[in-house]
Amino acid sequence: TQAPVNVTVTGAAGQIGYALLFRIASGQLLGQDTPVRLRLLEIPQAVKAAEGTALELEDGAFPLLAGIDIFDDPKQAFEGTNVALLVGARPRTKGMERGDLLEANGGIFKPQGEAINAGAADDVKVLVVGNPANTNALIAKAHAPDVPAERFTAMTRLDHNRAVAQLAKKLGVAVTDIRKLTIWGNHSATQYPDIFNAEVKGQNAAEAVNDQAWLENEFIPRVAKRGAEIIEARGASSAASAANAAIDHVYDWVNGTPEGDWVSMGVPSDGSYGVPEGLISSFPVVCKNGSYEIVQGLEINDFSRSRIDASVGELVEERDAVTKLGLV
Ligand code: NDP
Repeated sequence: TQAPVNVTVTGAAGQIGYALLFRIASGQLLGQDTPVRLRLLEIPQAVKAAEGTALELEDGAFPLLAGIDIFDDPKQAFEGTNVALLVGARPRTKGMERGDLLEANGGIFKPQGEAINAGAADDVKVLVVGNPANTNALIAKAHAPDVPAERFTAMTRLDHNRAVAQLAKKLGVAVTDIRKLTIWGNHSATQYPDIFNAEVKGQNAAEAVNDQAWLENEFIPRVAKRGAEIIEARGASSAASAANAAIDHVYDWVNGTPEGDWVSMGVPSDGSYGVPEGLISSFPVVCKNGSYEIVQGLEINDFSRSRIDASVGELVEERDAVTKLGLV
């Protein structure tokens, strides 16, 4: 077996952290040949709760879990890290303006970017889950000039998985029959789940659905607002499915996407599909040998174009706002 991989998880005592850590320890993040050493970061008030979770992790007697360390200092937490899962963020509270939210998150993601720049391993891969995820990733990336920009990614895999599940349900097929679905843009209500380039058992998915009203009035809003639907039903936000998506995102990045398929990831734009360079926006990506490439050459119809432009427009506004605040 290989040497343990260092995995840093921030917000480790939160809901998503609780659902995530046990699956990492069991080998589902990187694969069954790869031992992991967990480095948990929390704010000082939550360190005790993270210590409690660490006791439970110990009680799992996970063969692949090589150690657990807990920190309240990002510099220490990201020392030698190979995979960084940035889950902890400042939630929007009542009366909080968007600018306040972005500023509060700047106070978290700027020092974390600096710490990753200073101490992470050369092969570090970063996934931002904490919202607003795309812009938090942009802030962290801006403060890590020595880390290749493409290592900073934001999670849209939960949106991707939700869209695959809803499409499979509509067509009465298995989720494994759906391929090449794409989430474009921001992880927010403006995100655009694209079925025009997707396939169902090899057939074009939009043609198989053949129902534009369903697409516009049910599918897209349902996927985009699924988080609210879960809160309404469960009385708490979607934590296990978010953790599951984080596992899927990193697993595929490290181990590759299946032949003939792709996944959605928020990644720094290279200008593809008219998305301004440097913005962290969701794209269809193929992963291979530990890196990814944005899928090129897809046809974007007028409907898709206007939806993508709207979501990318929101990302531009968020970038402008954090630029004004001096955070990027
Ligand atoms: P959760 O674990 O439920 O959520 C954490 C973050 O993930 C939030 O920003 C949340 O965004 C986001 N998120 C992204 N996708 C989803 C999704 N599908 N469903 C739900 N959330 C999603 O939050 P908790 O409050 O339980 O825990 C947060 C922890 O982070 C706390 O323990 C806190 O102490 C810690 N923290 C740690 C920091 C650090 O390590 N430096 C900094 C700040 C906080 P949204 O708010 O939009 O739901």
